[in-house]
Amino acid sequence: MNKTIAVIRGDGIGPEIVNEAIKVLDAVAAKHGHTFTYDEVDMGGVAIDKWGDPLPQAMLDKCLAADSVLLGAVGGPKWEGLPGPQRPEKGLLRLRAGMGLYSNLRPAKLWPQLADASPLKPSIVEKGIDFMVVRELISGIYFGEHKTVEQNGEQVATDVMLYAEHEIERIGRIAFETARKRRHKVTCVDKANVLDTSRLWRAVMHRLQPEYPDVEYSEMFVDNAAMQVVKDPSQFDVIVTGNMFGDILSDEASMITGSIGMIPSSSLGDGTRGMYEPIHGSAPDIAGQDKANPIGTILSAAMMLRYSFDMAAEADEIEAAVNKALDDGLRTADMMAEGCTLVGCAAMGDAVTARL
Ligand code: NAD
Repeated sequence: MNKTIAVIRGDGIGPEIVNEAIKVLDAVAAKHGHTFTYDEVDMGGVAIDKWGDPLPQAMLDKCLAADSVLLGAVGGPKWEGLPGPQRPEKGLLRLRAGMGLYSNLRPAKLWPQLADASPLKPSIVEKGIDFMVVRELISGIYFGEHKTVEQNGEQVATDVMLYAEHEIERIGRIAFETARKRRHKVTCVDKANVLDTSRLWRAVMHRLQPEYPDVEYSEMFVDNAAMQVVKDPSQFDVIVTGNMFGDILSDEASMITGSIGMIPSSSLGDGTRGMYEPIHGSAPDIAGQDKANPIGTILSAAMMLRYSFDMAAEADEIEAAVNKALDDGLRTADMMAEGCTLVGCAAMGDAVTARL
């Protein structure tokens, strides 16, 4: 297969971690006879310095023309004083909106070799943590009307939580399809005992369910889900939920797995094109020192192969190579433990590539 990947190296550790992901992608391509063509895109601080704009239209156009987008991270202290629209993060928001990316997939997976880094008890961790939070990204309470008015001599504020059936249906389908590529289980997380939007979510999910008879479907209130994620995370495969509940639950989920440098993510819209990035930021404190953990970005590239390019075997091979590098005791500084071998960013990329 021939695929074009828009590559946004970004700022801070971005260029270092993206280099390692590209090494791995090139090795997979060579092994399986694919051709990946990389189109370099400036976004974030680097684009502000070069073009005076965190995401010039020509750069967004490159992303829209590509089969998918791989992003390192953007931002840093140099650009923090700029006014809102000119800040690096604005480029990211414009990219998500411009590409219509309404679903955010964040895996919560604990690598057994890093079990000590989880804040959960060993008896819970032993059962395994490997689930996916599918979060609706461009609607719900974050996008409804926000208003503060004076009423009876005091300030009164409202935030409108709005969901249309089509917005629920499209994220629901992503959840069912994602479960089909995993362990065939979907849990819809909501507050249907109180909220109309949640009751509509359930109605739409019930309508979709017969189309996916091979997927086991269940529902859970969000307050209970927050408890279950720390009590018995092994029960989950795919969690599907709205924008705000997903924001909170996906952060809780990433916490229980240990290092922030290990976690990938994908954002998808209609069609197969997506945007793939590690969940962490540009880590300016370690930028340019060959200390960053590139695994979150390497696993983001694996997600791209699995979810956008339908290359499940190739994605499995990358995940197995990461597993082998961890098995062999290789660790970057953020996850270093006694008895392991400390390696830099480039050496970790080489180690994963060598194990493919
Ligand atoms: P951060 O995630 O960049 O860093 C938090 C801590 O985690 C730091 O100590 C850092 O060294 C460490 N860390 C992060 N990634 C690591 C990795 N791969 N390997 C080893 N250690 C790692 O968060 P922050 O410091 O709050 O933000 C720094 C900049 O990144 C800010 O400008 C922020 O706006 C931006 N940011 C960008 C994104 C994005 O591009 N998607 C996301 C979050 C933050």
